[in-house]
Amino acid sequence: MIKSFHPPQRILMGPGPSDVSPRVLEAMARPTIGHLDPAFVQMMDELKGLLKAAFKTDNELTMPVSAPGSAGMEACFVNLVEPGEKVIVCQNGVFGGRMKENVERFGGEAILVSDDWGTPVSVDKVKAAFEAHPDAKILAFVHAETSTGVRSDAQALCKLAQEYGALTIVDAVTSLGGTELEVDAWGIDAIYSGTQKCLSCPPGISPVSFGPKAVAKVQARESSVPSWFLDKKLVMGYWGGEGKRAYHHTAPVNSLYALHEALVMLQEEGLENAQERHDHHHQALKAGLEAMGIQFLVEEAYRLPQLNTVIVPEGVDEAAVRSALLNNYGLEIGAGLGALAGKVWRIGLMGAACNRRNVTLCLSALESTLVQMGAPVNAGKALVAAEAFYKG
Ligand SMILES: *Cc1c(COP(=O)(O)O)cnc(C)c1O
Repeated sequence: MIKSFHPPQRILMGPGPSDVSPRVLEAMARPTIGHLDPAFVQMMDELKGLLKAAFKTDNELTMPVSAPGSAGMEACFVNLVEPGEKVIVCQNGVFGGRMKENVERFGGEAILVSDDWGTPVSVDKVKAAFEAHPDAKILAFVHAETSTGVRSDAQALCKLAQEYGALTIVDAVTSLGGTELEVDAWGIDAIYSGTQKCLSCPPGISPVSFGPKAVAKVQARESSVPSWFLDKKLVMGYWGGEGKRAYHHTAPVNSLYALHEALVMLQEEGLENAQERHDHHHQALKAGLEAMGIQFLVEEAYRLPQLNTVIVPEGVDEAAVRSALLNNYGLEIGAGLGALAGKVWRIGLMGAACNRRNVTLCLSALESTLVQMGAPVNAGKALVAAEAFYKG
């Protein structure tokens, strides 16, 4: 007989999912109702309003796609890229590479602008790409590259795209709720995010927003959108006009309760306060890690507070450290991806997981593990440095 599944208690300080607040888990356990029930439709309208506030946009076409962040990515590319169109794609980590895949699968021509992993997208290189390809219709880039812990200058990149008459597709999966993000003020045309990073919801939903120029482009398409499920024209009938809904697919009712609750919590805290909290605990973690003698991969000016990529000390078996943290402390941190596999750890401070208790636990657990392995770190310094930061 197979028994019920009871997951172990963990503290999630990796690249996502992040710790989910008990309030959000409780919301998810509320009774399932029909997805066209008037009470659910009203909740959806509130959810749209909360998402607009989180994205800082008035875009009518702002909605949660019923699938994870990767589907939000695909929703943007499948609707906005038409066969034969040139799209400038910035790649400075894993997720830019997926954008290129999306462009090519939907018949577009990807003009790749590559930067080293661990550095931000170069605005100058993007400008040169526009000069070489003035017919490029879209600029696509990742705001917060979770594979490296780098923040790129979304505002400058969007301004550049506007100068060259191109639309922008922005990946904000890791930035939403953790880093300054202004959809309308920066002129972002299409943006997608995820629930399981700084919004601290269970994974599986992707908030997406399309601005007026993006909507006009979808409406003027000559070819039909090559995905039925993600076709925004069809989804608009479901999530569009206030209070009225036509069946498109069965919404993930309970997951949307969770997202509603997480966004209510974000509203209570205040978006700016949430961003400051991420920065504050990042500073404490940094003070502790540096006192231990651990170095960051990314230059200070481009670091993401919610995703700290640090270099594994010489001679240390990085996977053994992660296993020890998980087995002895219930603490999950992330490994390096792609070019950085085996070389770095990715320590997340996302959403509900971004707090003083977790910073303290992570520093002491990491120090104790590294000291036991005989790694070259300064013992006894990390907590003192973090506490000194918190005392101000
Ligand atoms: C996590 C992530 C994604 C993918 O989201 P999923 O929910 O895993 O599909 C896309 N882009 C970035 C930057 C991410 O961090």
